[in-house]
Amino acid sequence: MQKKLLYAVLVSLVSCTSNTVKTKKDTITNNAQFDAFKNRFVSALWKANPQWATSQGFHDYDSVLIIPNVTSRVADLAFNNSYLDSLNQLDINQLDQNNATDFALIQNQLKQSVWSITEYKAHEWNPSNYNIGGTVAEILNNKNAALTMKVANVNGLLRNINNYYNAAKQNITTPTLEHTDLAIQQLQGTVSYLETSAKDSIIAVKGNLLILKNALDATNNFIDFLQGKKTEMQKNNVAFKNFRIGKDLFFAKFKYEIQAQSTAEQIYKRALKRKEELNTEMATLAAHWWKNKNAKVPLPANKKEMVREAIATISKTHVSRQNFQTEIEREIPLLTAFVKQKNLIYMDPAKPLVVRKEPEWMAGVAGASISAPGPYDKNGNTYYNVGSLAAYSPEEAESYLREYNQYTLQILNIHEAIPGHYAQLVYANQSPSIIKAILGNGAMIEGWAVYTERMMMEEGWAKNTVINGTVQEDEMWLMYYKWHLRVVCNTILDYNTHVNNWTKAQALNLLMNEAYQEKAEAEGKWRRATLTQVQLCSYFTGYSEIYDLRQTLKTKQQANFNLKEFHEKLLSFGSAPIKFIAPIMSK
Ligand code: ZN
Ligand code: ZN
Repeated sequence: MQKKLLYAVLVSLVSCTSNTVKTKKDTITNNAQFDAFKNRFVSALWKANPQWATSQGFHDYDSVLIIPNVTSRVADLAFNNSYLDSLNQLDINQLDQNNATDFALIQNQLKQSVWSITEYKAHEWNPSNYNIGGTVAEILNNKNAALTMKVANVNGLLRNINNYYNAAKQNITTPTLEHTDLAIQQLQGTVSYLETSAKDSIIAVKGNLLILKNALDATNNFIDFLQGKKTEMQKNNVAFKNFRIGKDLFFAKFKYEIQAQSTAEQIYKRALKRKEELNTEMATLAAHWWKNKNAKVPLPANKKEMVREAIATISKTHVSRQNFQTEIEREIPLLTAFVKQKNLIYMDPAKPLVVRKEPEWMAGVAGASISAPGPYDKNGNTYYNVGSLAAYSPEEAESYLREYNQYTLQILNIHEAIPGHYAQLVYANQSPSIIKAILGNGAMIEGWAVYTERMMMEEGWAKNTVINGTVQEDEMWLMYYKWHLRVVCNTILDYNTHVNNWTKAQALNLLMNEAYQEKAEAEGKWRRATLTQVQLCSYFTGYSEIYDLRQTLKTKQQANFNLKEFHEKLLSFGSAPIKFIAPIMSK
């Protein structure tokens, strides 16, 4: 039902400029009113959600801790319903494009919050919701405040920590085993963070350590509570709540979180079809590669074996662990040059990407990620964080380096940096809307990064891959398809786990036998599927909708279609859902 409501909003949004006769004065009045409304809304949102505010770089409420009890949930519901009422009094038909999409994003956010509290109810079953470690770190890592001030805010935040964890204990009536284990693990991380970095900060300003000691005791006490609850439930044979949220909640979460033109079921069916296409393509490529580059080795009779062995052989071409970061630094300018030469998108040279070793407070897992400046620090640096491989055993390092071999490392750089996440973030930061920054759509953000992988391949990136004097086009395409297959299987796994009650064995069979993943990678992905819902669908959904939009416009505009203009126009909307962008761009 609510999906229909949103579509109704969307249709009126799209038709407003063509069908409705309106005076200029009306529009300005209403847009000005809406701007004022947005300012009030954002101020109130931060006041009501101080920890969220802190995470976005808005530090006015750093010292406020909301106790997660019934009273605060009732207040939260009242907040959402009252702003939904206010929205209902505004006429979306009178708003310009930017404001009309902001209207729809705010409405979706408010409805999602109501749904979370009344239907999804993670406060009852996900103990990892209760952890102040991240907020303390966000406060202390704020570059724009003096340490004395930050320590004072941390003290304020931790003052009521006992009430906070006591409320959490009351809430957790039906925990899942998986989220209980996750909570224990993450809370232990918080304990060690409070004992080291946070403690050092307080000592540095000669602050009072008593509140910190109390916070450590409260956190350890909450860990004991979770461990005790787990032991007691196991002893008495009380079943944990199933981590699978089931069809109804999954479909609803998909609607609110992904905000796609398609339903969860449509995307799932599309992923199944794409998997078959990719398997066919990969078999063709592997056979071609075998004939040309691997002819001395007997060809396996089974097609899947042939693909698997081709991937295993090609994956052996990788950099050494010492050269991992250097190789990323070497590739970034090559990607920038290619994007420029092929006229794919304008990249502002004044906003360079800084490649750095992953900072210690992020460390733990090797890998790569982008740290973008938040909406309140738009001119801050964008960092490409490269995880250290130093702690790995030789075997672990070898496995990791085969996964991120000379070919997939290029796809990773396209995805994370150029023209993927980094380029999208530079454009999103130019969007004037704070709403699109704080309510940014994950499917748009991930979809863009996944789309650019395919776009770069289509534009001829594989021909650039020359290793030991030979062009490695087949290798590059095969590894790209393997990488892309992972995205496709993320959707299939997520959907089947939560909607079709898949077991771990079924999941590992998909990932290892049909997507050529190593056991460690597949196990990690299964764990993620047990702990999250819908997020694993965001990559393929966003990618599919961007790709569709491009193909539609190509067909419609024929010779007038310009790829660079398409990319720049698409990104100019900020991180808005494609379902809002597509109707405007298709007009
Ligand atoms: Zn090796
Ligand atoms: Zn990504």
